[in-house]
Amino acid sequence: MEIECDVLVVGAGPAGSVAALYCSKHGLDTVLIDKNDKVGAHITTRVDSSTDLGLTSIINELELRTENLVHNSKWHSAFGNSFTLHSDIGEYYVKRGPDSDSFECSTVQKAVVNGCTFFGQIKIEKLCEDSEGVSEIILLQGEKTIAIHPKIVIAADGSNSIFHRYIRKKLVSNRVAYGVTGNYFAQPDTSEIYFNVALAPGGYFYIASCPQGLSSAGIVLDSSKMDHSAHSYFYNYLNKNQEIAKRLNRVTNNFQGCEEIFDLDVHTYKNILLIGNAAGLIDPFLGYGVMPAIVSSYRASKYSVDAIKNHDMSVLQNYNEFIKQHFTKDLAYLYRKILNTLNDEDLDLIIGILNMLQRKIDIGDLLCFVDM
Ligand SMILES: Cc1cc2nc3c(=O)[nH]c(=O)nc-3n(C[C@H](O)[C@H](O)[C@H](O)COP(=O)(O)OP(=O)(O)OC[C@H]3O[C@@H](n4cnc5c(N)ncnc54)[C@H](O)[C@@H]3O)c2cc1C
Repeated sequence: MEIECDVLVVGAGPAGSVAALYCSKHGLDTVLIDKNDKVGAHITTRVDSSTDLGLTSIINELELRTENLVHNSKWHSAFGNSFTLHSDIGEYYVKRGPDSDSFECSTVQKAVVNGCTFFGQIKIEKLCEDSEGVSEIILLQGEKTIAIHPKIVIAADGSNSIFHRYIRKKLVSNRVAYGVTGNYFAQPDTSEIYFNVALAPGGYFYIASCPQGLSSAGIVLDSSKMDHSAHSYFYNYLNKNQEIAKRLNRVTNNFQGCEEIFDLDVHTYKNILLIGNAAGLIDPFLGYGVMPAIVSSYRASKYSVDAIKNHDMSVLQNYNEFIKQHFTKDLAYLYRKILNTLNDEDLDLIIGILNMLQRKIDIGDLLCFVDM
């Protein structure tokens, strides 16, 4: 089978699903492919929280599904002191995974209604390049061979993107996570973050709940500081914190994952635009990647629509400029570096200081790593 298209989106996570929706909504011939047979199958259902920096307008424009918008996050020290950050910048909760009402599934469904063609369970066999970029991609779907000739490729295939071969990648660290999903772990109006250097080295323990009850609790760790599995850290944390353990009594399943924190030299290579995790846009402070996935996807798609409608591929370079200007990770790296040097007494003190500062300045602004 031979297919010509305007845009080929590789990967149907949050980034790829939004790109497929935007491009198809704006009349581009759009093909979306994923290596899994089912959208969201790479994730065990869970709740991701995602800072609202530039998200509200995109969510409203594309009618994207979210579960909740939370304005409070409560930070706990190892000694039981806490600080509640009330921020004007809220955090959206999005449901992830293979259920039809997850963020990625509901977004892909809309893209397909707009005319986007979806191929699941594919294997990319070959990328053929010419002077303009990738001109042909050969896919295998079972016994079937599909040759796609895209004008633009939007690479949304996650941290181990096959498109990194074109671009220098500078690895910084790995974040490893393990957790459980269930019902009614916490109040849905506040996300909770627990710091403890010994029990969650280089990371934190968190709890998030949606209004209908769907909840996630997990531990996020820096792989270079771990000496046993994330699963053991998670249950060790609960053993030492029985109050939290008691709240996780309606567990339905568990999840685990690993995210690479890395930087790329460029985000546009000829006709390829890298978005989301494939572009290395994870916040190195908390390990959040959903907001950057959606914002980068929206921008990449917007420039793709302009390029196709105006027959001018040079517009794609604007995407690279946008990412360079808006996703500077310097501050987040600094916060992470500082956090890594602190012990539990220091963190306890900082939580006390934040409590005092909260009355004088907007701490939410200080903690942003994106300039939207
Ligand atoms: C346990 C855990 C908890 C997290 N919690 C949060 C959180 O609370 N908040 C937050 O903001 N972020 C969180 N993150 C990070 C967040 O999940 C990612 O940043 C986000 O999923 C990035 O979306 P994406 O679409 O770029 O990539 P992905 O979600 O990785 O999607 C990539 C897609 O590409 C497909 N694919 C991969 N390779 C190929 C290929 N060769 N061909 C075709 N398809 C391919 C995959 O099947 C997948 O569908 C968490 C991550 C983990 C592991």
